Amino acid sequence: MQLDDGIASLKGVGAATAGLYARLGITTLGQLIDYFPRTYDDYSAVQPVRDITPGTVTIQAAIGRITARYVRRGMHITEAVATDKTGSVRLVWFNQPYRAASIHAGRDYYISGTLALARQHFAIQSPAIELVSEFPVNTARIVPVYRETKGLTSRQIRRAIQQLLPLIRTLRETLPPWLVAAHGFLSRAAAVEQMHFPDGPDGMAQAQARLGFEEVFGLTLASLLNKYEIMREYAPPVPFDEAIAREFVRHLPFTLTDAQRRTIWQIYLDMQRDQPMNRLVEGDVGSGKTVVAAMAAVMVLHHGHQVALMAPTEILARQHAATLQRLLQPLGLDAQLGLLVGGMSAAEKQRVRGQAAQGAVRFIAGTHALIQDRVDMRALELVIIDEQHRFGVEQRKALMAKAGHMPHVLNLTATPIPRSLALTLYGELDISILDTKPAGRHDVITEICSPHSRAQLNARIMGELEQGRQMFVVCPLITPQTGAGQPAGGAYAAELAAEQIFERIAKKDFRQFRTGLLHGRMKPAEKNEVMQAFVEHRLDILVSTTVIEVGVDVPNASVMLVEGADRFGLAQIHQLRGRVGRGAHQAYCFLMMSDAKAPSARLRALERTASGFRLAELDLELRGPGAIYGTMQHGALDLRIARLTDVRLITRAREAAQAYIDRGEDLRHYPVLMERVRRIRAVTSLN
Ligand code: ADP
Ligand code: MG
Repeated sequence: MQLDDGIASLKGVGAATAGLYARLGITTLGQLIDYFPRTYDDYSAVQPVRDITPGTVTIQAAIGRITARYVRRGMHITEAVATDKTGSVRLVWFNQPYRAASIHAGRDYYISGTLALARQHFAIQSPAIELVSEFPVNTARIVPVYRETKGLTSRQIRRAIQQLLPLIRTLRETLPPWLVAAHGFLSRAAAVEQMHFPDGPDGMAQAQARLGFEEVFGLTLASLLNKYEIMREYAPPVPFDEAIAREFVRHLPFTLTDAQRRTIWQIYLDMQRDQPMNRLVEGDVGSGKTVVAAMAAVMVLHHGHQVALMAPTEILARQHAATLQRLLQPLGLDAQLGLLVGGMSAAEKQRVRGQAAQGAVRFIAGTHALIQDRVDMRALELVIIDEQHRFGVEQRKALMAKAGHMPHVLNLTATPIPRSLALTLYGELDISILDTKPAGRHDVITEICSPHSRAQLNARIMGELEQGRQMFVVCPLITPQTGAGQPAGGAYAAELAAEQIFERIAKKDFRQFRTGLLHGRMKPAEKNEVMQAFVEHRLDILVSTTVIEVGVDVPNASVMLVEGADRFGLAQIHQLRGRVGRGAHQAYCFLMMSDAKAPSARLRALERTASGFRLAELDLELRGPGAIYGTMQHGALDLRIARLTDVRLITRAREAAQAYIDRGEDLRHYPVLMERVRRIRAVTSLN
């Protein structure tokens, strides 16, 4: 038996069954060994028949008085009576006509199942039975429950894996022996066996501890190796010049928060070194990341180098350019700023390229267009990536490649990543957290609303608008017919479509105010015009789809109305909510349900919690890391056992990964680990 033998080499697995296994992604013995249970049923307590009560039970008894019959077409019942020294109990199976033939009268069985009332009698329903032995598989123990497919049950899978026990017991150790010893872990072979056939709760817990550790260890080791690789690169130091930093701060219309001060200082220290900075600034929406990025840029520009800032949308890139213009102007550095986005004319782009080539423009803000464009970036020393989670590693790499060497990199993200997850996923990054809000900010008041109370809600909103505030209205659809993945047409969808909502607001509910419409199908120039009109308060209400989700900054907007809020994710609504409450006014976020159903616990959490970090933790607990990361890192994550909310596990794995590197270990000695680390780094390494 070999790990890469086909699954059909097992007894009882023919071509048809092999096809079923293939549906579960299993074609080899090794893959079956790796197919860990979804959960367990505890059948380990073997009781005398006299003592059993309704619920999960296991008995040891002989089986007799078997009857098998069709009660009607398509309904076959096998009944039997199980008897031990203390009493008797009925067994019943539905639609298993082959049952009767396989039962040997007079022999002792383990019988496990659920005792319940059916057809006026207590009986153990469709129990698993097997002859009493040293090593029961489906009864009289904690049994694994696997993800099944039609025609392939956990009972069958257990039988198949039982045949693999000799192979499992020869599995080689995958972790360094000193690590296994230091943590008192089970060997890999023992851990895998305990996953499938636990001796008891202890064995199960130990197996999960060891295998969960291994998963997180692989991830953190990969990210630490990324980090050391970056540290070996050279980046020209950017000396700190106190005068220019003071000058910048002196012209700000506000005082920096402590968190902003701390973060910018960390950035200046990073850039003074001759190794590339690779820092992530994590700050909830509205925490003031832009000004931090600007301060970093100023220092680099001051020394005559280039800076590039990449944002995920054109609206955002343009807004950054405008903000930076204002921030750099008092220092006389604003003329060095240039914009490069897809929506610009060829002539405009050509002009920016020319200015960059002459060194007149040294700070280039833009979208992905920066990567494709031929603009000269050989003097690039600082790359700023806004909303970092929106970009794949390939795009970030492509931008850095423009410099021809590894520049200093500053990543910004408003997706609050729980620290545990950040350390695991982004171990190669140094992390700064902007955890204090600018002074004078109030939490956004968040309320879930039902369509029945639309009139009262409109009256409240009217009050805000009459005081000169502005409102965002975000809708899940553009038109009722919006395709892919959206439920089609009908009055229901119409109520969620931006075009219809725009009509209702502009012509009816709020017709005395100026309303604009913004969505992804409009031309970039149109989008910019509408956005600009809202920024300049030539519009009071902006109806849009989630195109405004990231970054947009309009301090006078105090109301965010999310239509069909139950259609959005937690993190997404939090981002949307962050569009308001950026000025001195109290802001509101109204979450309009698409029907009168009770809101989910997740929406309720938004009402209670203003902290993006707390919400992200909640999402992590409720839906796993994929919820936060979408598809981006998901493949590399591949965590089946470890919980990323387990801070102790993550700390231990990280310490172990550091110890591994400090010992000068060589991955070639651990081929399984090497392969896993290679796969993770293929999607995370910036080199
Ligand atoms: P985000 O972190 O979401 O990118 P921004 O950088 O867009 O946030 O900042 C949000 C708003 O807060 C902007 O209007 C900005 O001018 C303002 N701001 C930033 N820092 C401060 C501060 N220390 N005090 C007051 N307002 C600030
Ligand atoms: Mg921002």
